[in-house]
Amino acid sequence: MERRVRPLPAAYGAAALLAATFAAGVIGIEITDHTQATASWWPPAGLGALTLMLYPRRWWPYLVVALTAAYLGANVVQGRPVDAAAWLALADIAETILVASLVRYRIGRRLTSVADFGWLLGISFGAAAVAGLGVAATSARLLGGDFGPTLGATTSAHWASVMVILPLGMAPRHRTRGPAWLIAVQALVLLGASLVVFGSEGVLARAFLPLPFLIWAGVSFGYRVVVIEQVVMAALVTAATLVDKGPFAAHTEASNQLAQLYLVSVVIAGLPLALAVGELQLAAAAARNEKRRTEAIIESSTTPIMVAAADGTMLSTNPATTALTGFTATELIGRPFWEKLVAPEDWGYIRRRFSEYDKFPEHGEGIMRTASGGERIVTFASGALVNPDDSTNYVITANDITAERTSSRFLQHLFRSATTVAILGTDPSGSITLVNAGAEGMLRITQDEATGRSLLEFLDPGEVEERGRELGVMTPSFSALVADADLGSAPQTRDWTWRPPDGVELRISMTTSLVADARNRPIGYLFVARDVTETRRNQELLHQALERERAAVGHLRALDHAKDDFVSTVSHELRTPLTSIIGSIELFSDGLLGDLSPDQAHLVEVIERNAERLLALANDLLLLAAYENATPQAPFVQVDLRDVVQASTSSIMPLLTSRDLDVRAVVPEVAVRVLGDAGYLERAVTNLLTNAVKFTPDGGAITTTVGFDAESGIATLSVADTGIGIPDQELAEVFQRFFRSSNVRADAIQGTGLGLSIVSSIVESHRGTIDVASEQGEGTIFTIVLPLA
Ligand code: ADP
Repeated sequence: MERRVRPLPAAYGAAALLAATFAAGVIGIEITDHTQATASWWPPAGLGALTLMLYPRRWWPYLVVALTAAYLGANVVQGRPVDAAAWLALADIAETILVASLVRYRIGRRLTSVADFGWLLGISFGAAAVAGLGVAATSARLLGGDFGPTLGATTSAHWASVMVILPLGMAPRHRTRGPAWLIAVQALVLLGASLVVFGSEGVLARAFLPLPFLIWAGVSFGYRVVVIEQVVMAALVTAATLVDKGPFAAHTEASNQLAQLYLVSVVIAGLPLALAVGELQLAAAAARNEKRRTEAIIESSTTPIMVAAADGTMLSTNPATTALTGFTATELIGRPFWEKLVAPEDWGYIRRRFSEYDKFPEHGEGIMRTASGGERIVTFASGALVNPDDSTNYVITANDITAERTSSRFLQHLFRSATTVAILGTDPSGSITLVNAGAEGMLRITQDEATGRSLLEFLDPGEVEERGRELGVMTPSFSALVADADLGSAPQTRDWTWRPPDGVELRISMTTSLVADARNRPIGYLFVARDVTETRRNQELLHQALERERAAVGHLRALDHAKDDFVSTVSHELRTPLTSIIGSIELFSDGLLGDLSPDQAHLVEVIERNAERLLALANDLLLLAAYENATPQAPFVQVDLRDVVQASTSSIMPLLTSRDLDVRAVVPEVAVRVLGDAGYLERAVTNLLTNAVKFTPDGGAITTTVGFDAESGIATLSVADTGIGIPDQELAEVFQRFFRSSNVRADAIQGTGLGLSIVSSIVESHRGTIDVASEQGEGTIFTIVLPLA
């Protein structure tokens, strides 16, 4: 803590100092031996300098005037002639200004070092000499003194005064203090020694006795104790000499001068030591702090820091080293640096590095072994540190980059091995920075020719312009390519036409993504492309083929329509003449046009039969055409399948007149309702029954069965016979138009082959299915399944 000399308002202090200066002047002259022309003791020199030193420079003009007045006053009060007093005051004030200005300029307000003390010694001597010259000249001219002796006495008196008093106001910041009791002991011893020396008759050699004790104070107790003791010493020496005691008691100007020089030497003995010790302690404290700071930094650093001697012996490691390697400080310290941390095969190399001082500092990448037998990849930096004793230490720091290296290896590998994918990197402006092997092969560019060129140069400008227009960018620019990526959305994929330097274009599907740094600032773009030339061409071909197919189908459908139209027109047109033919023939066969001979009757019968067949064919064709043209159906209503079977069975009754067939229907008690058109359903069942009658020889049986399954919501209607059956391999074709089985054709049983396709069309239009099972020579069963209403 620093105590400033300002317990009272500064002006009071200044006034007190001025008063003290004046009083010291009066006393100084008073106690001076009156045989002498000027005072041999001149404390005002020190007090005056102290006054200026303690106060701000803007006060100086007033202080200088006041000090001059004090000096003048003291001389005048003591009865000196005014002119002489004025000259003396002038000499004094000149000295005071010189000391204060030079000390402020050269040293500042505080004495902090031995060098400062040296300057103080020189400045105060020079200024004292200036005063001495002035005083000696005045004394010689106006007061009858001798120039030479006066010069000597005054210079030494002033010098001692400044050297003893001024340091009182220039205490350094550093403070050294011993225990109070010890200071008291030292002060008493010093006082005792001084009393012994200056209280007795003078033996000059004894004058040196107090000096070791002042030196003790300088070394042990610091500046403040020393300066105070010096002031006390000065008072004591002065007083003793005055009363003719002590080594300088001779009452001559020369002895006074000696006493004053003695005082200067007293100051030289104590004060520089105090300053030096203070400086040393400050430096030591700074060094201690520095060391603590450094240790704290090293201890808390997350970077492993190791210090090794010149021969490689580890001297210290920090906790981060343990964290990285798993070796504790005790395991590492005192052993060669490489023993634990480096693989044995590299020991020789590392040991050599340690011996090559001139290679330091160095940095690089290396591998460090860990306690668990693993390895870490590190970047290291090492520097040589030359100690004060000229030995060299090495400071080695390491940073673990294992994770970064591993992932970058992976990436490099990925980048190299991606030969079927083209990867291009660009900077934010679009100039290519990265080309992988896949890009070289697929896009037919080399790394050298592509690097540094704009990606735009390789793309079809028309497409870029087109994309630019979509985005509202007028000139085709790189931003048209990366607009999607810039918006921060997921990577976008688009087709582009690639124009490699060899001129053979290809179609690529390219995905664009933005690459950003850790702070999310864009550092470039990544383009991943696939060659889709073949794929796109195939897609195009497929598309064209489909188009053609569609056209052909349309054409066929039109043809089919035309055919159906034709068939129905022809059938229609055939029906009228056929009806007329049949009517006319009936006139013959009924004998209305006269009796026919047996031959004629036979012919008429043949004509009638064939005309009937033709009419049946025409009717069937008409019916089928009506179905296949998908004419709108009559609205479906609820139909009981039992009624359908009843009606169909009755309608085939005429066919049975000349036949011996057992025809029966098995129907449930309850109604089996489906949604449908009763007329069409009857027609379908009649067709099946007609076939059964036709293809079942006499003695056989025909059974129609109606059933239902309420749970699955279906109704079944089957027509089974015990007839000739259908050959196995032809079963699949029975529902095709104009199909007639081989056995039927062989037996020349008549038919058109249209009946079953009509049945199947009717069932389909009722959202039902029809199935057939047959065994040749055993019989056939047709089963219709319809959804229940
Ligand atoms: P059509 O009876 O006028 O020949 P269909 O379409 O009704 O025409 O029948 C096609 C063919 O299916 C018949 O010629 C016959 O060969 C065979 N077929 C149909 N029903 C039976 C059946 N119940 N038993 C044996 N064969 C049959």
